[in-house]
Amino acid sequence: MATANNYDVIIIGAGLGGLISGAILAKMEGKKVLVLEKNPDIGGKIMSYGYLHNPDITEGEYRKSLAACGHSSIVHSEPAFPEIMEKHGLFKNYIVDTGWHQMSLGPRNRFAQIANALGKSIPISPTVGFLYHQDGKFMQLSDIANSWPKESQQERKRVAKYTSLISKEQSHQYDHVDYQAFLESITNDKNVIDYYGLMGCYSGGLNCPTTVSAGEIIRVNNMNNMAGMHFQKGGGGGVVTGGFKMVANIFADVIRESGGEIRTNSRVTEIVVKDRKAVGVRLKEDSGVEQEINAPVIINNIPPRYLGNILPQTYWPMEFKQRIENQFPLAGLLGFIGLKEPIEKGDGRKGDFSIRQLPGTEELDVIGEGSIFSFEQTSEVDPTRAKNGKCLMNTWISLYPKNPFGATEITNDELIQKMIQLIYDFFRKQYPQWDDVYEWGYFTRAKDMYGMSICPGQLGERRLPVKHPTVENLYHTGDTVAQWGIASDGVGYGALLTVGEVTGKDYKSLIAPWGR
Ligand SMILES: Cc1cc2nc3c(=O)[nH]c(=O)nc-3n(C[C@H](O)[C@H](O)[C@H](O)COP(=O)(O)OP(=O)(O)OC[C@H]3O[C@@H](n4cnc5c(N)ncnc54)[C@H](O)[C@@H]3O)c2cc1C
Repeated sequence: MATANNYDVIIIGAGLGGLISGAILAKMEGKKVLVLEKNPDIGGKIMSYGYLHNPDITEGEYRKSLAACGHSSIVHSEPAFPEIMEKHGLFKNYIVDTGWHQMSLGPRNRFAQIANALGKSIPISPTVGFLYHQDGKFMQLSDIANSWPKESQQERKRVAKYTSLISKEQSHQYDHVDYQAFLESITNDKNVIDYYGLMGCYSGGLNCPTTVSAGEIIRVNNMNNMAGMHFQKGGGGGVVTGGFKMVANIFADVIRESGGEIRTNSRVTEIVVKDRKAVGVRLKEDSGVEQEINAPVIINNIPPRYLGNILPQTYWPMEFKQRIENQFPLAGLLGFIGLKEPIEKGDGRKGDFSIRQLPGTEELDVIGEGSIFSFEQTSEVDPTRAKNGKCLMNTWISLYPKNPFGATEITNDELIQKMIQLIYDFFRKQYPQWDDVYEWGYFTRAKDMYGMSICPGQLGERRLPVKHPTVENLYHTGDTVAQWGIASDGVGYGALLTVGEVTGKDYKSLIAPWGR
């Protein structure tokens, strides 16, 4: 077995957290970084497919890659999937991400700020914001609020002011309070409770405000407001131009340009620990070659649920283990639809469209009073996503993971198939020309989208520490560590915490004060 020792930092996993941490350490600290990734490609849960990325990908490769990205699988397609690939040229004419992959905070996203600090720029196509379905039309939330009775309008302003004055530190007292309970504790106005409840669900990627952490949502909303990306005025969204995978590529470029190395098809099989210090890793390449590589710092980017595969549980204190066991990743039903042309026209065509209750889902066995349904004409926001004037639409419904509170949505195939039919029913009713414009569509179920737990769960101070509690020189990063913020935006912030812990320096200064 060969060994090599000339790296300063080894990063296990080329997900967003690993790549951002590696890029900062390589470029700003001059560290020799080695990133080891088990998959054939970098990016982890952020992957893009299509003509700018991998136009010749086969159906088998696509399915395999989806499985590696958040345990995603195709659960329905109309017409059959091979026809979508061959007749409609899915990977020749379109760009699809693993999911819908919205960028929280749009151009002011925290990982975009980190990229800027590293001399790079992430191409972002902002949406015109959040449009809410009422009386058969999509409207901005602020317009909906303007149609309320005067008392509700005033109450909304009071509630907005009240929450905006809660500091980040104070918000932690609400980490394990559900958002519905928080709202009901500060107002009796049903309009206001519904309004903020919907925003909280939308931000948290969950279906019901009783499962959203009030602390997380207060921090996220206040950050959006301070960044000038007011959710209630429709701000705060966007997609990465050309596909979300561009983000992984950009941070990987920084690592390579700074003398670092990224090896794919390289699975870490063990973190080597001596005298309670991490000293290296063992890895197995796809070729079968096994190797031990040493470095004084090891950063783990693989989701902690799988940490047991590479770090014996003797190094997991009881409390750390419990934190891992109590994490229930977000899950969802994602739709990818090809239309001959955009179906939602006018000024709002670049919006994030949301329906409080997808008609018919109130009859289904789901958490909440029916499912929130959202969609976007992604190619209207980012024209690279579809060629020839066609329209790529992405859709989203949250599915609750299996958890101690009894939810089984993610494993309920019958429920998922019914939801898909209800999505088509909604579109046919909303847009009478639907069948003339529709060309193809398929849906995936993603079992493991990101680590933000449902509430009350492993949020706030119950997230995982970035420094391993019992093994020196071992650090963690990614969407499950002690960061806050929505998914990939939170991953960027988490990387700053990890690098800060490794170097003893405050790297939060790379981003604007409102995001620290
Ligand atoms: C379908 C879907 C939709 C999503 N939608 C959004 C969205 O709209 N907005 C948003 O902000 N976020 C979204 N997310 C979440 C976001 O993509 C993730 O939060 C983020 O990418 C996670 O990054 P990470 O650094 O935690 O690591 P991961 O992406 O989990 O990366 C971990 C890496 O470690 C590698 N690895 C695992 N084991 C080993 C091993 N033994 N050796 C070497 N390498 C290993 C994996 O292959 C992987 O590359 C979505 C995710 C999915 C799946």
